[in-house]
Amino acid sequence: MPEPDFDKATSDAKQYIYSFAGGSAEGDASMKNLLGGKGANLAEMANIGLPVPPGFTISTEVCTYYYDHQKTYPENLFEQDIPASLRKVEQELGKKFGDPENPLLVSVRSGSRASMPGMMDTILNLGLNSETVEGLSRKSGNARFAWDCYRRFVQMYGDVVLELKPTDKKQIDPFEAILEAKKHELGIALDTDFSVDDLKEIVAKYKAAIFEKTGRNFPENPYEQLKGAIGAVFNSWNNDRAVVYRKLNHIPGYWGTACNVQAMVFGNMGLDCGTGVAFTRDAATGDDIFYGEFLMNAQGEDVVAGTRTPLKIEQLKAENPEIYNQLEDIRSILEKHYRDMMDIEFTIESNKLFMLQCRVGKRTGVAAIKIAVDMFNEKLISEKEAILRIEPEQLNQLLRPVFDLKAKKQAIEDGRLLATGLNAGPGAATGKIYFNAADAADACKRNEPVILVRIETSPEDIKGMAVSEGILTERGGMTSHAALVARQMGKVCVAGCGALTIDYQKGEMRVNGSDIVLREGDYLSIDGSTGEVIAGEVPTKNSEIIEVLIDKTLKPEDAPTWAIYNQLMEWADRYRKLNIRTNADQPDQAETAITFGAEGIGLCRTEHMFFGGERIDAMREMILADDIEGRKTALDKLLPYQRDDFYGLFKAMGSRPVTIRLLDPPLHEFLPHTEGEIADLAAKIGKSVETISERISDLHEFNPMLGLRGCRLGILHPEIPVMQVRAIIEAACRLKKEGHEVVPEIMVPLVSTVKELEITAEIIHKTARSVIAEQGTGIRYLVGTMIEVPRAAITSDQIARAADFFSYGTNDLTQMGLGMSRDDSGQFLPTYQQQDIFARNPFESIDIDGVGRLMSISAKEGRSVKPDLKLGICGEHGGDPTTVEFCHKTGLNYVSCSPYRVPIARLAAARAALQS
Ligand code: ADP
Ligand code: MG
Ligand code: MG
Repeated sequence: MPEPDFDKATSDAKQYIYSFAGGSAEGDASMKNLLGGKGANLAEMANIGLPVPPGFTISTEVCTYYYDHQKTYPENLFEQDIPASLRKVEQELGKKFGDPENPLLVSVRSGSRASMPGMMDTILNLGLNSETVEGLSRKSGNARFAWDCYRRFVQMYGDVVLELKPTDKKQIDPFEAILEAKKHELGIALDTDFSVDDLKEIVAKYKAAIFEKTGRNFPENPYEQLKGAIGAVFNSWNNDRAVVYRKLNHIPGYWGTACNVQAMVFGNMGLDCGTGVAFTRDAATGDDIFYGEFLMNAQGEDVVAGTRTPLKIEQLKAENPEIYNQLEDIRSILEKHYRDMMDIEFTIESNKLFMLQCRVGKRTGVAAIKIAVDMFNEKLISEKEAILRIEPEQLNQLLRPVFDLKAKKQAIEDGRLLATGLNAGPGAATGKIYFNAADAADACKRNEPVILVRIETSPEDIKGMAVSEGILTERGGMTSHAALVARQMGKVCVAGCGALTIDYQKGEMRVNGSDIVLREGDYLSIDGSTGEVIAGEVPTKNSEIIEVLIDKTLKPEDAPTWAIYNQLMEWADRYRKLNIRTNADQPDQAETAITFGAEGIGLCRTEHMFFGGERIDAMREMILADDIEGRKTALDKLLPYQRDDFYGLFKAMGSRPVTIRLLDPPLHEFLPHTEGEIADLAAKIGKSVETISERISDLHEFNPMLGLRGCRLGILHPEIPVMQVRAIIEAACRLKKEGHEVVPEIMVPLVSTVKELEITAEIIHKTARSVIAEQGTGIRYLVGTMIEVPRAAITSDQIARAADFFSYGTNDLTQMGLGMSRDDSGQFLPTYQQQDIFARNPFESIDIDGVGRLMSISAKEGRSVKPDLKLGICGEHGGDPTTVEFCHKTGLNYVSCSPYRVPIARLAAARAALQS
């Protein structure tokens, strides 16, 4: 008779269980997909010899199987594999699962690839029943402890597996009700004060509650308990909480969760026992200190439950130096092993330390950067790894002004939080409310800090925005005018705060549905990182980086955070391939951007240069002129302003490249709106109110976004680009004479056919040639175009013939590519994102499949004609890390973004280069 082939039987079967018992583990940290984060790290800790209670991990494939097979398990899992794995644990500990004399108890813990806090409650002390609880009591000589375990187990099992825990947070958990009633009856506050008999009584009441609710007795059989708990873990993968969490965090449903079964260790056995959680470094500051909390005579989540106040980890040093030193050793072993800051959970049983969990710790942006740079200095990681550890957005926390956190908390506790809007421009600002740009400017002259509060902003508000500490709007999204300009200026901005009603006439701002009203001159504080709007003053402070770089009020050597930032930026610059430019139209913006590392200007919007004082008057005179002569006269008045502006900008930028976009917006944007303004203008320029009103209605367009704007303006009124080009070239010649070489890049907006570009380029060249001849100074300049109309993108081979460079204007390219107006998208985009139509707002992060594809086609077509065609991006997307990565992959030469996003783009570019 042939012998049964056991080897064959096992090697054919898929391995569903990975044990960590007997001093080694079958898994390791690299197996997160299969074992989940918790299981993989428990295995890893066991492998490196740390004291981990033995157990095993049921893999995520069992979860997938469970859902693919009508909630059933692979063959033999409960009949063979799990009992066999339990045997290993029993052997190691000399205990037996379900044994009435010396019972093994286990915990059943979920754990997916990505940590999903609060997805499912862990079940502890599983294996207890009316028999084994007596055995545990005799064996430990501690009946109170045994019944405390049993009480906890019945409650957790009842809540999680038998589903007695109410899903509605307003309803109260039946077990908590029983527990509280008993505490009340005895006049005690803490679980630890219950006697054995109290606990027995509570358990009996728990069981009665379970019978009443389910019509069944609490399961006595430990294997039945185990099967129920494992099923609950897998079911929890699809509970409402988990589904919502996954959606928010882009975790796919097919990953599934693993399930860990682990021998219990007891922190609730007396005063030489305890449980705690810790970070191997300070997760808020990144400081290299051991940071944690613990409780003696406690189990599981007692530390975070808040019923007893946990103690600081330093106190353990005083109370139990031996355990503390052991923990310190483990801290350093873990950091050296994982080469990162770790978050750990531990339990002390009768003066013996056990590790129950470790994972890479979450941290603030400041801490992330400090830890990465410190770990490089400690030779734990390379500079490349340091770069890859930091999410570019985290840099924001180092750049923006911040509220004094204590003061802000107090203000909120005092009920001063009025509303929360969109966190459109990060940072903290506090100042007096003004409702229009002129009043804001006056207040600024009186040295008052200003918060400009507008229903929404338009280009005329720019002056007021520039003098304000922060901007608050009632309407508009993350890419509204207010948000866009605020970020370019580095201003704090809370946009779209619909919970407020702003009344310009009354000069007040009301909190909807309340009688709270704030008036002009009242103090207001806004947090552009969180969107919070707070009444009154909350003290703010500048970030250290700003004090060193911009204000120069701090010496680098006195600024530890600056040193870390600077180190990181040096590394980033070493690896990135993309150049980083900035969007700026004022010399001070340009200077700020340079200190942040900008290597040029990718977009100077000339329309901003037409606002303010006499410029706007001349501009209006030009628009309202009856004939070309009239227009030329007005343009002559604008010329010196423009020339000075360009001169200032070129000078601030030194030899760095500057791209200047010719006038882009429709003309009606420059005209007055209200009757009063029209009358004022009429008086000023000697035209009748009727004439002006008529001209305004002539210029009215049904769809200005697609109307007379961009290069179309210059083709209809060549005198406009002639004036602008003259100003640019004259400024450049003047600098040349002063010994500075500048190469202006003149950019034509809104081109859709090569012919448009050829006509405009001809105007540019003719003007430039004549200015150069007049000035007698030779300068070089480039002529290029924005690619922001889909037709231009797909005919880029033709357009490249007439262009020295392309710059992707992704705001318009997105609007036209998607047929979606940015300023109206607030109506439907939130719903779209909810339904996953777009993973991200396409106006913030480039729509890679659509708009990105247009860009790739254009880049390829353009370079097929001109291999060294210079390519860049100048839309708002230029500062978005995902877009930066895309631009790197597409082979662009540079990205251009608002000054305060330059460091973020530098880092994002380095990460893109290192990742590809
Ligand atoms: P979560 O994923 O929510 O952190 P865990 O599975 O880590 O849940 O369990 C929560 C807590 O339960 C742990 O921090 C630990 O204190 C306790 N715990 C889990 N397993 C055991 C065990 N085998 N022995 C003792 N305590 C345990
Ligand atoms: Mg945990
Ligand atoms: Mg555009």
